[in-house]
Amino acid sequence: MAQVREACGVFGVYAPGVKVAPLVFDGLFSLQHRGQESAGMAVSDGETITVVKDMGLVTSVFTPRSLGSLPGHLGLGHVRYSTMGQSNWRNAQPVYRSHGDAGFALGHNGNLTNVAALEAEAGMLAGFAPSDSDLIGELAAQAFPDEPDSGAGGLEVALGAVLPLLEGAFSLALIDAAQLYAVRDPNGFRPLCLGRLEGTEGMGWVVASESPALATVGAIFEREIEPGELVIIGREGVRSLRPFAPERVAPKLCVFEFVYFARPDAELYGREVHAARRRMGERLATESPVEADLVIGVPDSGVPAAEGFAVRSGIPFGQGLVKNRYIGRTFIAPTAAARSDGVRRKLNPLRESVGGKRLVVIDDSIVRGTTTSQIVRVLREAGAREIHLRISSPPFRWPCFYGIDTPAREELLAAYSDPSAIAARLGADSVAYLSLEGLFATIGVAGTELCSACLTGEYPTPVPTATGTPAIFAVT
Ligand code: SF4
Repeated sequence: MAQVREACGVFGVYAPGVKVAPLVFDGLFSLQHRGQESAGMAVSDGETITVVKDMGLVTSVFTPRSLGSLPGHLGLGHVRYSTMGQSNWRNAQPVYRSHGDAGFALGHNGNLTNVAALEAEAGMLAGFAPSDSDLIGELAAQAFPDEPDSGAGGLEVALGAVLPLLEGAFSLALIDAAQLYAVRDPNGFRPLCLGRLEGTEGMGWVVASESPALATVGAIFEREIEPGELVIIGREGVRSLRPFAPERVAPKLCVFEFVYFARPDAELYGREVHAARRRMGERLATESPVEADLVIGVPDSGVPAAEGFAVRSGIPFGQGLVKNRYIGRTFIAPTAAARSDGVRRKLNPLRESVGGKRLVVIDDSIVRGTTTSQIVRVLREAGAREIHLRISSPPFRWPCFYGIDTPAREELLAAYSDPSAIAARLGADSVAYLSLEGLFATIGVAGTELCSACLTGEYPTPVPTATGTPAIFAVT
């Protein structure tokens, strides 16, 4: 049960002759794990863009009736996760902006790192933009040409001017009245892929944060949108543009997409996420073996690595914790007491399985340690004799600036403590983490092509450091 939270999913579809609102709904539903605070969609019938968004899950924001009233063959959807205090209707997406008669809508996954400079560029006072996503919309509206020339539409021209100004993480999906746009920042921190939708009048196309969302609507995976690429989809098919300076383009997909964020059936860099998670567990068993009676995974994300650990170690795998799937998030509760209550309601031990046993407990990460200490406590109360924590990623020591909700460095359990101190703090008999080399090897991607800044402190781009601690402006 990861203690770091993913932050937003985007989905877009262009399908001539098809009413796309139900497809956008299905796509968003399959991306719900990336954000549960608000959901929204924008749909165009070729002339008018209609936006519907609200706080809550996809299934509570949209009903068959509301979907039925949304006309159009072009659509964009968004699910959002934000930090406390920024979770309000105003910041739900898509963001809608207009310039004269021309309107557009955008959905953003990621976090910009140069917000102050962009606010100045937009002529705003510092701190006045409600979110970084809103700021992108504002800048694009300001950059709209009064009379687009050379055949390019107004949004295409505006994006050409604005995208090079943006720094940090941004996987974007946008629509104007006629076209679908997909953008991935030059580092490709967050995933974004392209799929084909056959059987429509002319070819249909889909863009989505993760590949399983394509299959949900019957689209066939075409390829990942490349870092630094702007894809424009319309009547002329798919066009690919490169709006960023070539020297900025350096792939750095977030390594935690593999560890936890992405769905297990997602493919990233051509690799299935579930298989990578199993290999992480196998490698962990080799790197940090322990004598024990039973291997359990903390549901859900610790389970594939637990299976891998069990296979490699020869220790039986079993279920030791049951998760209540209907409890809300615990991570952003404002106090430690509230967070720990949430964990207790979320996880229950299976007493007959764990009682009297020496347990290997596999989880994907430890952030503050609040969740993990609760897990250790409930397992002890259920009679576990020994608890050996094995974590299928290296110690989480640095905050993320690229769209993941993490606390300040002082609150990160591993920032200043070694595994034995962490074990003592959590009440475990031992704690061991997967090595960084082990993580890269099990994913099967060179470390140079992955962001691992929260593990190493080596940020691929400049990050805001004015206060010495992360000044995350808005998490989208
Ligand atoms: S800092 Fe960590 S969580 Fe953030 S993008 Fe990089 S690897 Fe992912």
